[in-house]
Amino acid sequence: MRLLVIEDDKDLNRQIVQALEQSGYAVDRAFDGEQGQYLGETETYDTVVLDIGLPKKDGISVLEQWRAAGRDMPVLILTARDRWSEKVQGFDAGADDYVAKPFHMEEVLARIRALLRRATGHATNEIVCGPVRLDTKAGRVVVDGAPVKLTSHEYRLLAYLMHHSGRIVSRSEIIEHIYDQDFDRDSNTIEVFVGRLRKKLGVDLIHTIRGLGYMAAPSVEEASGKR
Ligand code: CA
Repeated sequence: MRLLVIEDDKDLNRQIVQALEQSGYAVDRAFDGEQGQYLGETETYDTVVLDIGLPKKDGISVLEQWRAAGRDMPVLILTARDRWSEKVQGFDAGADDYVAKPFHMEEVLARIRALLRRATGHATNEIVCGPVRLDTKAGRVVVDGAPVKLTSHEYRLLAYLMHHSGRIVSRSEIIEHIYDQDFDRDSNTIEVFVGRLRKKLGVDLIHTIRGLGYMAAPSVEEASGKR
């Protein structure tokens, strides 16, 4: 999952980005409204954390323009504690949730997990596909009860496929959602990651749909039935 953080307070921006990266997300950052709006319009994000008080362009305008342009990713706004009107304006502009400053990072992380769950049709932090269980809160993967150790990119790839299990996901879609913008993207590496994941998981979970991409499904029959 790939996220965007738009916050002009440099320390706070860094803290949020660090916490998100530690939670297994690919993260891009922006420090003003113009740069943030541009990224949100040109790149693909699974959720955006958007501060309301921003230089160059305020968060409400950024959000309104995204929504007017048909950008429908979930957006979590950061509001000032004593400004209830910011929350109302934010929701009316198309925000999905808010956190008032100052906040505990755990709350931001929990709200982002909830937004990602809702956007992908899952009700809990644990996503189960056959014998594989992905705990999105702990960032853990368990197969038949045994924990599996994954690198951060392997985890991101598996998490993306499992959030979208039963659906064909193309390589280019995967690339857009597991790397941040600074990463040197190469679609051949996806195949390498898939190979390593299959080996580490030891079960038939990730199916190659020839010419189209990959699908996470508990069995081959299920994968072909969903095509
Ligand atoms: Ca601010």
